Amino acid sequence: MMVKRVIGAYLVKKSWGLLLVLVQCFGVTLLYAQSPVKLVLLPEHPRPGEPVTVGMAAGAMGEKEDPAGLFQAVLINTRGQRLTKASFFNLTVDKEGTSLKVAILAVPCTARPGSAVIQVEHQGASIGTIDFTIENRTFVSEEITLDQGNTDLRTIQDPQKTAEASVLWGIISRTGTEVYTVGPFTAPVSSTRRTSFFGDRRIFRYVDGSQASSIHAGIDYGVPRGTAVRSCADGRVVLARSRIVTGNSVIIEHLPGVYSLYYHLDHIAVQEGTMVRTGTLLGQSGATGLATGPHLHWEIRVAGENTDPDAFVSRPILDKDALLGNNN
Ligand SMILES: [Zn+2]
Repeated sequence: MMVKRVIGAYLVKKSWGLLLVLVQCFGVTLLYAQSPVKLVLLPEHPRPGEPVTVGMAAGAMGEKEDPAGLFQAVLINTRGQRLTKASFFNLTVDKEGTSLKVAILAVPCTARPGSAVIQVEHQGASIGTIDFTIENRTFVSEEITLDQGNTDLRTIQDPQKTAEASVLWGIISRTGTEVYTVGPFTAPVSSTRRTSFFGDRRIFRYVDGSQASSIHAGIDYGVPRGTAVRSCADGRVVLARSRIVTGNSVIIEHLPGVYSLYYHLDHIAVQEGTMVRTGTLLGQSGATGLATGPHLHWEIRVAGENTDPDAFVSRPILDKDALLGNNN
């Protein structure tokens, strides 16, 4: 017994010495290995198209401020493909100023159900993983016959369209630092009449008989022209202008990498750069751009990925208690 204990103590002493040497050689990276990163994933079983929130104890970074983009959460499928990624930002969770690192990312609506992994990376190196399951989900299939005007909107090459698409992508792929809301969001119109759903698998039939497929990125509300359209949450107007395909369009930034989009408006009531609250009038619905009739197209983007708006209405995207692990 005595001998065993002595050997044990010797080994401990040796490994501490080795650890210190390694820490000196590899610095920060080994410090993570020394104290495993505490990670929380909400919800634990998302469906394709739904957002997930990753919380990480700020102590994992040694309480240091880190420049944006050094820490990322990456969603990886069983085949090792990196499906989406998002940068972490700071979230203050109590009155004492305790903060967490949080990343919001979306399970793509094309992701296969089954096992998947969220990998947390610091400057590209993995510092922790969360295994989870993507649940099954079925999407609606629909066919839409387009007239000459709408066929042209989709098929004619136009440099202006390309320029507008690149401006839009520049906005929705940006991860800011401001947390304007923790959710939950509210629907932008009071009507519950939906003419298309999130993730619909669509076939567009053109006037010449040819066709194209696409996935519907948002929810369409079949509301009459002139219906009040309101912001789904607090945020900042980052786009309020006419676009060829989406007509009069408004985009609101709500959280780092999280944006809501409102398309085909008859009239826009806000200006770029202004702040809005939940329920602020953004404009009136209409049928501008590519539309077969008056409706509101409401969309939410997370790190560029189209995401189910209903998931933001049903729960707070930043549930501070749950992120702290207090609900378990
Ligand atoms: Zn739509």
